Amino acid sequence: MQNLIQAQRNFFNSNATKNIKFRKQQLQKLFDVLKDNEQLMYDAIYTDFKKSSFDTFTTELGLVYSDIKEAIKKVDDWASIKNRPTNLLNLPAKSYVIPEPLGVSLVIGAWNYPYQLSFAPAVSAIVAGCTVILKPSEIPENTSRVIAKIVNSNFDSNFFKVVQGGVEETTELLKEKFDKIFFTGSTAVGKIVYQAAAKHLTPVTLELGGKSPAFITQNANLKIAAKRLIWSKFLNAGQTCIAPDYLLVHESIKDKFLNLLKSEIEASHFDTKNGNYVQIVNKRNVERLVDLIDPKKVYLGGNYDAGNRMIEPTILDDISFEDSIMEEEIFGPILPIIYYDDLDEAIAKVKEMPKPLSCYVFTKSKTSKNKILSEISFGGGCVNEAVMHLSNPNFGFGGVGDSGMGSYHGEEGFKAFSHFKSILDKPTWIEPNIKYYPHTPLKLKLLKFFFRLN
Ligand code: NAD
Repeated sequence: MQNLIQAQRNFFNSNATKNIKFRKQQLQKLFDVLKDNEQLMYDAIYTDFKKSSFDTFTTELGLVYSDIKEAIKKVDDWASIKNRPTNLLNLPAKSYVIPEPLGVSLVIGAWNYPYQLSFAPAVSAIVAGCTVILKPSEIPENTSRVIAKIVNSNFDSNFFKVVQGGVEETTELLKEKFDKIFFTGSTAVGKIVYQAAAKHLTPVTLELGGKSPAFITQNANLKIAAKRLIWSKFLNAGQTCIAPDYLLVHESIKDKFLNLLKSEIEASHFDTKNGNYVQIVNKRNVERLVDLIDPKKVYLGGNYDAGNRMIEPTILDDISFEDSIMEEEIFGPILPIIYYDDLDEAIAKVKEMPKPLSCYVFTKSKTSKNKILSEISFGGGCVNEAVMHLSNPNFGFGGVGDSGMGSYHGEEGFKAFSHFKSILDKPTWIEPNIKYYPHTPLKLKLLKFFFRLN
């Protein structure tokens, strides 16, 4: 591990990655090798948890391809020196900011979107000019193996290398000094990563999870809300960091909305046999999720097949904030519904909880929308939609508080792996002596004037 990191550091110090043409070539190469190996990736992820090619393309590879294309198109601009105005006190001078890559980066991925969560941060690192050591999640083992094969047989390990492994290997990696650590995973492990990074003062981006609420107010378009919520919740069998974790539904629309949710679930035909559904990733998670289903609260679903790692799309009705399902991120196909009659009280309850990664608002009321968006702190979200904000390349994506720090995709990703040097560039043909000794009342008066003007 130390040899690998040293080799990457030597390569970085050779300035090779600072060359924009090199970055574009490596990004194009990544694009090409992913394309060439698409079938291999589809087969691996299907073996791991029966994810269809359709879902793998739309929720993983498609996003990575679009990030790569955007990076190639925009890197000249992102990496260019940017002029800034010079304040009066410093005139005459030029002021500018030089973006520079941070150096040797470590990217640690989560299992739920294994391709996207490995390659999208790697794209950000490469476009910024960093070298990359990528540690994908070990849980989908075929997928992890394919990621390693694709990268390690096509890239120079001094520049981009996949290291496979679980807790033990990651713990070893985290003992070393990196110039940037980018972590996607749970809040609990995020804290471990942050502590390890602190020992070396390594900057981190932490893409974590949380319980993302969806508000449905009394005047929402309920049919559309039900359709969009059911799709976004049961996509990947609920194993999505930005999935709506629970619904906050106005009491007055209770029966109508429950019926609509039920119809949407029935119309979606969630089944691994038709590619509309995936397995729960492992036995441990099946057990954890089944424990969360209180049979007394089941409105729909609730059945499971542990051997096949399948849990039916499940709606739990009339849940309260005190129920055990409200303690942790669900990360599975169980949707609890909490009813509220006072929006302020519902908002206050959400604010007592850790800051979520996302928040969704289904409403026609501008007042309710603005209230929720302005009063609750969360990573990002949608109005009358769910999860789709991730697919807008013009947004940065990230959490706040317990759901993470920093953001990426597009230019935000470039920034996450960059440092910006501020340079004041002075000519030598003039040397006002105002700052030099001896200090006089007139000089002070002049300086005060300049500071005030700035
Ligand atoms: P996890 O935290 O268990 O694992 C993430 C990575 O950390 C894996 O590569 C794993 O090998 C490593 N790891 C696990 N335990 C470790 C330890 N003790 N020390 C060092 N490394 C360790 O997360 P997961 O189960 O893979 O993913 C699920 C979580 O990730 C959910 O909370 C979800 O919300 C979150 N997530 C967040 C995003 C996002 O973009 N914000 C995206 C996907 C998933």
